[in-house]
Amino acid sequence: MTPSSSWAVVVPSLGRPSLRVLLESLAVQEHQPSAVVVVDDRRDASTALDVSAYPSARVLRGGGRGPAHARNLGWQALDAEWAVLVDDDVVLPTDWSDRLLADLAAAGPEVGGLQARLEVPLPADRRPTDWERGTAGLERAAWATAEMAYRRAALAAVHGFDERFPRAFREDADLALRVRRAGWQLLRGNRLVVHPVRPSNPWASLRQQRGNADDALMRRLHGPQWHEDAECPPGRLPLHVLTTGAGATALAALLGRRHRLAGLAVAAWLASTLDFAVRRIAPGPRTRDEVLAMLGTSVAIPPTAVLHRLAGAWRHRQAGPWPVPVRAVLFDRDGTLVEDVPYNGDPALVRPVPGAAQAVAALRRAGLRIGVVTNQSAVARGMVTRQQVDEVNARVEDLLGPFDTWQVCPHGPDDGCPCRKPAPGMVAAAAADLGLRPYEVVVVGDIGADVDAAHAAGARAVLVPNERTLAAEVEAAPLRAGTLGEAVELVLGGRR
Ligand SMILES: [Mg+2]
Repeated sequence: MTPSSSWAVVVPSLGRPSLRVLLESLAVQEHQPSAVVVVDDRRDASTALDVSAYPSARVLRGGGRGPAHARNLGWQALDAEWAVLVDDDVVLPTDWSDRLLADLAAAGPEVGGLQARLEVPLPADRRPTDWERGTAGLERAAWATAEMAYRRAALAAVHGFDERFPRAFREDADLALRVRRAGWQLLRGNRLVVHPVRPSNPWASLRQQRGNADDALMRRLHGPQWHEDAECPPGRLPLHVLTTGAGATALAALLGRRHRLAGLAVAAWLASTLDFAVRRIAPGPRTRDEVLAMLGTSVAIPPTAVLHRLAGAWRHRQAGPWPVPVRAVLFDRDGTLVEDVPYNGDPALVRPVPGAAQAVAALRRAGLRIGVVTNQSAVARGMVTRQQVDEVNARVEDLLGPFDTWQVCPHGPDDGCPCRKPAPGMVAAAAADLGLRPYEVVVVGDIGADVDAAHAAGARAVLVPNERTLAAEVEAAPLRAGTLGEAVELVLGGRR
């Protein structure tokens, strides 16, 4: 193992101030990674992410699709043996890289992942709040990706994180289960990272109930015993169901004027709600604000948790294993489906690239939907009319058969529109038009903007380079094919 080339760092970031602290603590390490990829996962990435604390860091755009998608973008962009996943809210002690290298060196070939030990500093002068105790729970969490090194081969074997997990919750436990099932060992290392408690507000615990929808997906994917398999504590959901049931019964009984039943149900609801509140208040600082917040949220959490759980069970009722099958392929038009005639407004000049007809026919035969996502800035530049673009598109359909969706961006590069690739708008709109989620879609294009638009939308992408494709774009693309036919084979092969 050559320490300098065998590990790289991936940081999904929401642009919090803590990113700078992390990058500063990385920059002063004795051993440096071969690459640092920061995935900017802000929904609004109109301003550049500040990575000046680690100037050589490469920034990719995640498009606000959550840490699972962002980390997948990051590790796929690397060629190191190990991808060290680090959240943007941890701090690396000065001896971190020494200990990391020792952990990696001690890992046999059967080890797929190595978790850091986490330390959550709590206030020394008072009892920790509910939120602080919740964060401190990370110290015991199995396979938390706050800092975890995964062998890239292990990530590739299971197709990385399941992007149906939209938030930093359960996506790491799900990955760990699949990596272990694929035959790899996961171990805890000896290195330590510090995870400070983020500022929060009293209602954070209510927002966290959205995680119950992810638990529904875990159960669907891994069975009812998933808590034990993933080493996750079982949680309070059964009690929340009882509390919510008592509350609902009380309301129904009151409306039906069944006073005796209403009295019993109110008593049951009150007892379980108070028990919940007391369990959360007793270990805390018991200030006025904390007690009020705990009382309020203890009333609201049980029904919120149950609703999120039901919504998740419904949403994921048919979820199958990750990766989900590809259901649609969106093609770039110029230089991908047809020969690139710059600013073409003449249908007579449309020439499909070799193999285009067979490629789209193979997709139709396999039952996939197909579409086109095309930048036509010639319209904004006044060089062709929108009608001419439509006539050219009609000619493409004459030659290649019908497409299920057409997305055309008529804007110029300086219009700041959300549709012009590399922005994700057209890919997202095409997926919505086809009734699909972005991760069910693959974009096939000939330049980096096609790949970036796909990734920012949460779709996969295959680059089919031609003589106009920049070498850096070819190098950056996680999936490449020599021809359109090979790209389609890749897509169809990946479905089986
Ligand atoms: Mg093109």
